[in-house]
Amino acid sequence: MTVSEIGATTRIAALFGHPVAHSKSPRMHNAAFREFGMDCRYVAFDVDPGQLAAAVAAVRALGLLGVNLTIPHKEAVLSMLDEVDAEVQFIGAVNTIVNRQGRLIGYNTDGRGFMRSLKEAGVDVAGKRVLILGAGGAARAVAAYIVREAASVVVANRTRGRAGQLVGDLNQIRSIVTTAELSEAGQEAFLKDIHLVINATSLGLKESDPLPLDVDALTADQVVCDLIYHPTAFLQKAAARGARVLDGSGMLLWQGVLAFELWTGRDAPVNVMRRALLDGDTQ
Ligand code: NDP
Repeated sequence: MTVSEIGATTRIAALFGHPVAHSKSPRMHNAAFREFGMDCRYVAFDVDPGQLAAAVAAVRALGLLGVNLTIPHKEAVLSMLDEVDAEVQFIGAVNTIVNRQGRLIGYNTDGRGFMRSLKEAGVDVAGKRVLILGAGGAARAVAAYIVREAASVVVANRTRGRAGQLVGDLNQIRSIVTTAELSEAGQEAFLKDIHLVINATSLGLKESDPLPLDVDALTADQVVCDLIYHPTAFLQKAAARGARVLDGSGMLLWQGVLAFELWTGRDAPVNVMRRALLDGDTQ
């Protein structure tokens, strides 16, 4: 396809985060726009938390196509939108805004994106016992889908009250969820019954972070996922124990695919987006 010049009719999609300099989303979405010859561009804006309301007002004022939100704006943006879908109401966080003629609608594509990445990797959650580490926005997004298919779900989080809240909300969907202490979740006796472990904490983003779980208790018949895009020490050690491991790059791809489809109303060029992510892999 011919790549259109930026001109008077170019529509802009954007990422709002703080920081955003290392984001791979511009590469992924611009590759998709290019593939379809669309007169659109995706740019990353480093938006200070104090400027988020002004940035959201600019989405309306400048007629942006849509926006992705990342840390630390996913929760704060909720009160600035005209409408949010049911999934966002459950999760309490928005990662995608669609601008429909000036009405800003909030969606969250993280949970569906994660499930698509599991499916693509051939990991079936149906009837499995799942341990979710963390109870933040990403954990809530993922858990809302996991709970519909799993046999049982355990949530372990540093802040017990937050885990308790998530467990209560999940049990409204399907009453199969309990909570555990992080220390307990890392023990052999506890882990032996678990099929799938999902690290949805931010532990591992920094190299100096401790592991979210004692990996010595993991076994070769388990699947271990980390929502962090790059291969964390946790995943490397889990793999060394023989476990099957999956990093968050598939989730990153699929949440982007779903956002693209919400903005454009057309099927995303998944493999083009995947290649763009891989080509831009500098980590
Ligand atoms: P939140 O800030 O909402 O939640 C962070 C979670 O990590 C909380 O459960 C928090 O526990 C826990 N945590 C943070 N620091 C520690 C610590 N020192 N010890 C123990 N637990 C800790 O973040 P998100 O839910 O938005 O993101 C979580 C992770 O998921 C991030 O790494 C993010 O990069 C990743 N992610 C990946 C995506 C993808 O596309 N692959 C999409 C979205 C997120 P507490 O409640 O006690 O604070």
